[in-house]
Amino acid sequence: MKEFKIAQPQSLDQVTSLLSQEKTGYSLIAGGTDLLDEIKNKTIAPEVVIDLKSIPDLSTIKTDKKHVSIGAMTRVADLAENPIIQENFPGLVEAALSLASPQLRNVGTVGGNLCQRPRCWYYRDPDTICRKKGGSRCYAQRGRNRYHAIFGGGICYIVHPSDLAPALISLDADITINGPTGKKNSMKLEDFFTLPQNNVRKENVLEAHQILSEIRIPLPKNGTKSTYYKFKERGTWDFAVVSAAINGVISGGVFRDIKIVCGGLAPIPWRLKKAEDFIKGKKVTEEVIRQGAKEALKDARPLEENAYKKDLVEAVLYTAISSMV
Ligand SMILES: Cc1cc2nc3c(=O)[nH]c(=O)nc-3n(C[C@H](O)[C@H](O)[C@H](O)COP(=O)(O)OP(=O)(O)OC[C@H]3O[C@@H](n4cnc5c(N)ncnc54)[C@H](O)[C@@H]3O)c2cc1C
Repeated sequence: MKEFKIAQPQSLDQVTSLLSQEKTGYSLIAGGTDLLDEIKNKTIAPEVVIDLKSIPDLSTIKTDKKHVSIGAMTRVADLAENPIIQENFPGLVEAALSLASPQLRNVGTVGGNLCQRPRCWYYRDPDTICRKKGGSRCYAQRGRNRYHAIFGGGICYIVHPSDLAPALISLDADITINGPTGKKNSMKLEDFFTLPQNNVRKENVLEAHQILSEIRIPLPKNGTKSTYYKFKERGTWDFAVVSAAINGVISGGVFRDIKIVCGGLAPIPWRLKKAEDFIKGKKVTEEVIRQGAKEALKDARPLEENAYKKDLVEAVLYTAISSMV
């Protein structure tokens, strides 16, 4: 592991000012559960690691009449245990509790979860210079691709590893991004993630001098339900092979509104818009859910080893949606 310096800024302005001055490689560290793995296995070698732990107010959960705001440094365990989150967003609690192990949830943060890097074995292998690391090939495309993308690949077939991202997108969350000299902007979390065809080196639109500071979720309307179902290969901690976050308004067994966002399928959290359109307004039956999944899967482009994910999507959607009605 290459040596690096540690910077411990005391405010967001200090972070963004450091980020804009730093000419060599730097990395932000929150809980470090992903970043330190990347450094130890030599996927990255930053000169300076900027520690976010001393910044006040980045780890609080607050509510006003319309929204709940979650600081980016909120630990995943604190998110899952928060009474406001438990009361309003059961799907987000399920996603948080599905993530890693209790030890990792006690250290890992919400911001780090959204900004974590992919788990593709070619990307994580120090001896493989794939497209994501500046090389000229995606080795998964014709290599071992059992866990890779069936949507949105093309030049790089990673899947986005975050469990919180699909849940937060299904809840229509916004995020705040801070840049140099106090500049802030907000955007839909859904627009934060970006496909390899736009920039194969990154999974989101965050610029080098920016930091994700807050996530804001609108409080749910009456009759709204949410859930998160994650299919993983092992009973113990594991990343999603396929997961689905569902959020919707149900009455009389009919989804008046529904949002479906999947993990494990694409380089970004993947919205199944065609399934939403098919299911919306219909009485929810097994046939309707399976047909909705089939509509969405018409656009899937599986690789040699991962066509099984199509059947899994159908099963995961059926399990998740039928638990809500
Ligand atoms: C064994 C193991 C199992 C895991 N299982 C899961 C799982 O099932 N589901 C899952 O979703 N994740 C899983 N993870 C990944 C990860 O540990 C968690 O997602 C965790 O929440 C990451 O948070 P962190 O604070 O530790 O991030 P860090 O490691 O500190 O940071 C991760 C990345 O985000 C960047 N970053 C951090 N905070 C910010 C910010 N505020 N603004 C901009 N960039 C930022 C860092 O520079 C770094 O690139 C697992 C990790 C391990 C080691």
